Amino acid sequence: MVVKTVRGTSDILPSDVSTWQALELVSRNLLEAYDYREIRTPIFEQAGLFQKSVGECTDIVSKEMYIFSDKKGRELALRPEGTASIVRSFIEHNMHTQTLPVKLYYMGPFFRYERPQAGRTRQFHQIGAEAIGIEDVTLDAEIIDISMQIPSKMGIKNLKVMLNSIGCKECRSKYVKRLLGHLKNRIKKLCADCNRRYSTNPLRILDCKKSECIQNVKDGPTITENLCAKCRNKLETTEKHISSLGINYQIQPYLVRGLDYYTGVIFEIIHSQLGAQNVVAAGGRYDNLIEQMGGKPTPAVGFAAGIERMIMLLGDRSFQSNNSVYLAYLDFPMHEKVFELLSALRKNGIHTKTTYQEKTLKNQLKTAAKSNCRFSLILGTNELSKGTVILRDMKTSTQEEIKLDNAVAIIKKNIPLVSPEAKPSPFKVGIKADHFVDVNKMIKPGS
Ligand SMILES: [Zn+2]
Ligand SMILES: [Zn+2]
Repeated sequence: MVVKTVRGTSDILPSDVSTWQALELVSRNLLEAYDYREIRTPIFEQAGLFQKSVGECTDIVSKEMYIFSDKKGRELALRPEGTASIVRSFIEHNMHTQTLPVKLYYMGPFFRYERPQAGRTRQFHQIGAEAIGIEDVTLDAEIIDISMQIPSKMGIKNLKVMLNSIGCKECRSKYVKRLLGHLKNRIKKLCADCNRRYSTNPLRILDCKKSECIQNVKDGPTITENLCAKCRNKLETTEKHISSLGINYQIQPYLVRGLDYYTGVIFEIIHSQLGAQNVVAAGGRYDNLIEQMGGKPTPAVGFAAGIERMIMLLGDRSFQSNNSVYLAYLDFPMHEKVFELLSALRKNGIHTKTTYQEKTLKNQLKTAAKSNCRFSLILGTNELSKGTVILRDMKTSTQEEIKLDNAVAIIKKNIPLVSPEAKPSPFKVGIKADHFVDVNKMIKPGS
């Protein structure tokens, strides 16, 4: 039997990776412009971390977590979301002593045992950020702004922010009492999950997707109408901030989010084209979590965006570079001079393709055209003896003979290389994201 990928996981093949890299690059540049720094936490943690933070009663923890025992019998879990690990790390490394807010971002794989469907996989990837240590609605607005900008900068349109507040401890507990009162005589009409939620996590009844639950909730009180003055003011200020940025938003009184740790302003960014799994990014404020996890009382706000969903929305838009060069040669095996040129091009950060087996020139140029190369360099023993090389413009199909010694410089001049200064969004000019990393380390010819 041939071994295949595990259900709910998939390979991200080279043909798709350029889109992932472009998205990652755009996100990094954007998050760093907003003064967030990357943090990389382990893929697995003690299972208790998520039980304590995300909440025992949430679907994520009660049904969807990959829990396993290691050889010493420790109960571990593959991380189902990003915030819990960051909070753990914040406390473990005494980050409260740093200048606040501590602004952190992450990207990577997460794991939930769910029924796989379009936009939902068991290994999925997220980009997220957390601003920890200051309670200021400007940060809430900033987080919403960033979660809108990441997909927008990639060219995804028609995004909408659904906004709500689930209040503070005081107004929320008052509201929950009112909600329970409203639902008391309707419990039998609610779905089985909501019957359970009625005693464990009544707020979650509000965002149940079952029609019988929607029916029974919609004429009841909403949290938005029952906020205390302070919480109402924070929601309204957030609204003012995001509308000043021209962000398209709507108050959604039934929005509560699936995790227990949220407090105050919460949001989802949705795209209608995604169907049932329409949330591109989501987040909100979680002012009690750090204290609940054993740290000092510390306010925080954050978001996470689903990479697979953004990739789906990008469809077949290509982020592949057409700034590569094809080195074609006529006389086999490869002469040292050709090998030197090949290496010099690459050391200068020029994406260079070639053949490693004997092929006709026609065949090589065909490959160059097919792989969207911008130029071809053609040389055989004839050119080598003269110290020249033929430069072929693959767009115009014109060619000229140039000095072999000038080849690298000419190519460099005509192919825009990405440098770290070129931030943000260098992919827009068709440059492969992976050039980005090497530019500083490039060796100049002759050095
Ligand atoms: Zn309140
Ligand atoms: Zn329900």
